[in-house]
Amino acid sequence: MKSAPLFRRVAVIGLGLIGGSFAAALRDQGLAGTVVAGSRSARTLEQGMALGLIDEGSQDLALAVRGADLVFVSTPVSAMASVFAALAPGLAEGAIVTDGGSVKGAVIEQARRALGHHFPRFVPGHPIAGKEKSGVEAADATLYRQHRVILTPVADTDGEATRRVAALWSAIGAEVLTMAPEHHDRVLAETSHLPHLLAFSLVDTLARQGDSTEIFRYAAGGFRDFTRIAGSDPVMWHDIFRENRRAVLDALDLFRDGIERFRAAVRDNDSEALMGIMSRANTARAHFLAMNTRSSYTRARHSDDETGMTQHSDPTFVVAPGGRLQGRLRVPGDKSMSHRSIMLASLAEGSTEISGFLEGEDALATLQAFRDMGVVIEGPHNGRVVVHGVGLHGLRDPGKPLYMGNSGTSMRLLTGLLAGQAFDTELTGDESLSKRPMERVAAPLREMGAAIDTGEGGRPPVRIHGGRTLEGIHYDLPMASAQVKSAVLLAGLYAEGDTSVTEPAPTRDHTERMLGGFGYPVRRDGATATLRGGGTLSGGRLDVPADISSAAFFLVGASIAEGSELTLPHVGVNPTRTGVIDILKLMGADIRLENQRDAGGEPVADLVVKSAPLKGIVIPEELVPLAIDELPVVFIAAACAEGETVLRGAEELRVKESDRIQVMADGLATLGVEHEVYEDGIRIVGGAFGGGEVESHGDHRIAMSFAMAALRAGAPITIRHCANVATSFPGFAGLAAGAGLALEVLGQDTADAGESA
Ligand code: NAP
Repeated sequence: MKSAPLFRRVAVIGLGLIGGSFAAALRDQGLAGTVVAGSRSARTLEQGMALGLIDEGSQDLALAVRGADLVFVSTPVSAMASVFAALAPGLAEGAIVTDGGSVKGAVIEQARRALGHHFPRFVPGHPIAGKEKSGVEAADATLYRQHRVILTPVADTDGEATRRVAALWSAIGAEVLTMAPEHHDRVLAETSHLPHLLAFSLVDTLARQGDSTEIFRYAAGGFRDFTRIAGSDPVMWHDIFRENRRAVLDALDLFRDGIERFRAAVRDNDSEALMGIMSRANTARAHFLAMNTRSSYTRARHSDDETGMTQHSDPTFVVAPGGRLQGRLRVPGDKSMSHRSIMLASLAEGSTEISGFLEGEDALATLQAFRDMGVVIEGPHNGRVVVHGVGLHGLRDPGKPLYMGNSGTSMRLLTGLLAGQAFDTELTGDESLSKRPMERVAAPLREMGAAIDTGEGGRPPVRIHGGRTLEGIHYDLPMASAQVKSAVLLAGLYAEGDTSVTEPAPTRDHTERMLGGFGYPVRRDGATATLRGGGTLSGGRLDVPADISSAAFFLVGASIAEGSELTLPHVGVNPTRTGVIDILKLMGADIRLENQRDAGGEPVADLVVKSAPLKGIVIPEELVPLAIDELPVVFIAAACAEGETVLRGAEELRVKESDRIQVMADGLATLGVEHEVYEDGIRIVGGAFGGGEVESHGDHRIAMSFAMAALRAGAPITIRHCANVATSFPGFAGLAAGAGLALEVLGQDTADAGESA
C-alpha cells in the first residue's frame, strides 16, 4: 500500500540484505520520493537498479548522499568509520543520518569522529531482522514488517531527527524501541551474539575431530537446530565479535559459569540439580518470550524468537447452534489450589509431590516466580509437579521483576507473601493485569508494617521493599475477597504474633485449608481466620481436585441443552465454591453430587448433571462471592431460563480480567437477549436468541460462556480472541467438542498442541 513520502530523497549506503530491504520497503510503500544508493561496487548498483530497488546510484559516497534528506548506512560495522568519512562532505545541512549496524557503541564513536558538527543528526539504529543470506539479491521488502527496530540515541542526538527516523520505521511496519547503546550492546551480546558464537564454536569443535565426517553424517535434529545460525555470514559476525568485544566477553563468562554448573551436575550425577536447570530453562524460555511481548504464555508459544517477530495467533471459536452434551469428562485441576500448592510447597520444609496441577498459564506464572526465587521445581508433566521446598526463609532475591502474566491471583497473593521477605521485589503483568486494582491488597499489608508501592491509580507494577518487620494485625475485610484475605494471611506467616482476618461474607478458604494440610495451624472461628507467624510448613503429597469453575461451563451447558447427561468426576466442592451449584439448583437445574469424599482437606464429589427446564430467579446476594468466577456462565443460564433473572451486589465483576458485566451484556445484545445493566449487576430476560460475533476481550470465562450459549442459539456464534482460554482451561475446545459441542477453533497454531511446560 502506498503512503505519502516521509522523505524526499533517501540515500542507502551499502546495498546488501539490510540496505536493499530498506530500499525495497521504501519504494514498495512510497515512503521516499527518490531512492539512491551508494556502493563501492558498480555491480551492486546495477543489480539494485535491475531489481527495481533504487532510482539511481553512485560509487562516490559523497555524491550519493548529495541532496538527500535521509541517509541510511548499512555496510558492515567495521567499514562504517571509513564510510562515514567518505560520505560526510556530501551531506546537506539538515540531512538525517541513521544506520542499521548490529553493534551500537562502536558505531556511535565512529560517527562522532567522522561526522563532526553533523553528529547530532545521526540516529543510531538496529533492525532486529535478518536472514542467513546476504547481498542485494536477498533484499526483501517485507523483511522488517512486524519486527523490532532498536534506536539508541545519545544525549546530544536531535529529538526531532529521532522522531522522524522512528516514524519511518513504523511506516515500514516495524515496532520501534529506544534504549541506551550500552544496554543494547549488552542485551544483544547475550541474546544474539553469544548464541551465534556457540553455534560457530560447536561446529568448529566437532569438525576438528578426526571422525568429524561420522559426526556430521549421523548428526541428529538437535545438532542441526542448534547450529543453523552457524550458516550466517562470517564477515558480519567477525565484525560483531570484534566491535562488541567487551559485552561478548561478559556474556561468554556468564555462560561459562552456567556450563560449569551443568558440568558439575552431570559429573556428580546430581539428578536434582540437572532437573532444576532443565525445568527452569524450559519454562524460563516461555516466560522470557511472554515478557518480551508482555502477553500471555499462550501467545508466547506462537512467537518466533529468532528474529524477534511475534506471530500472534489468537484463535477464534466458531460454534454451530444446537446439540447436547453427554458422557464423562474430567475437567482440569483447580486453579486457586494449583497456585497455592506451589506457594506453600515452596515455603515448606522438604519436598511436595503435587498431582492434578492445572498446567494453565496463570498457575505457570506462579510456578515460574518461585523458580525465579531459587526453588527447584520438577515438572509440570501431566499435572504432576515436585517442589523441593526451601522453608519459610529460603527464598532468594530473583534479581529482576517477577512477571505474573495475566494472573491476578498470583500477583495479589505474592504481594502478601513477599512483604515478609528480606529482599525487594517487583511484580509486573500483561496489559490486562496492569489495569487491575492492587491497593486493596497493599493497604492492609502496610498496616502490618510492609513497604509497598503500586503504580499509577493503584495498579501494577507492585514494588515490595524487603527487610521490614511485620506485626500481626486484625483486619476486617471491607469487601469479600479471598485474594485479599489470603495475602494478609500469607504475610501473617512472617509477622510477629497473631494475624487474623474477618470477612463480611464467606469467600474461598483454600489458603486456610491448605495451610492446615501443610501442618500449619489456622484457627477458624465463624467469619474469622487466625494464624500465628513464625511456624513451619511440612511438605508431603497433594492431590488437586478438578476445578468447579471449569466444571461450571458444563453444568450450564448440559442444563440448557435438551437431552444432555454429563458426569464430571472428582470436582472440588468446597462450600466456599459451590455457589454456582446452589444458584443453578435454585433455577431448577438437575445436579447431583455423588461419591462425596475428602481429598487433602478439600471435599470432592462426582457431579452428575441432566438437562432441565430453568426458570429465572433473583440471585441471593450472599451467593455472589461464592460464585463470582462462574457468574458469566450463569448469565447464559439466565438467557435460557423462563422469566427474568436479577443479579445485584456483583460490582467485583467489573474489575476481573475484563469488565465482565459490560462484556457479557455486549455479547448478550449481539445474540438478541433482552437485558438491563446495573452498576453492580444485570437483569436478563430469558427466551429464544440468535447468533452473531461476540468479542471476548481476551477473557477466558467470557469466551467459554458464549461457547455454551450456542447449544441454545438459533444461529452460529463466533467468539473472538480466545487464546486466554488456556489460562484456566487448557484443552477446553477438545473436551467440549468430545462431549457434543459443535465447536471449531480457527486460527490456532498447531505448535500449541500438547505443549504446556
Ligand atoms: P551484506 O548483505 O553483506 O551487505 C553489506 C553491504 O555493505 C554490501 O552492499 C557491501 O558492498 C557493502 N560493504 C561491504 N564491505 C564494505 C566496505 N569495506 N566498504 C564499503 N561498503 C562495504 O550485509 P547485511 O546483512 O546487509 O549487513 C549490513 C549491516 O547491517 C551490518 O552492519 C550488519 O551488522 C547489520 N545487520 C545485519 C543483519 C543480518 O542479519 N544480516 C541484521 C541486522 C543488522 P558490496 O555489494 O560491494 O559487497
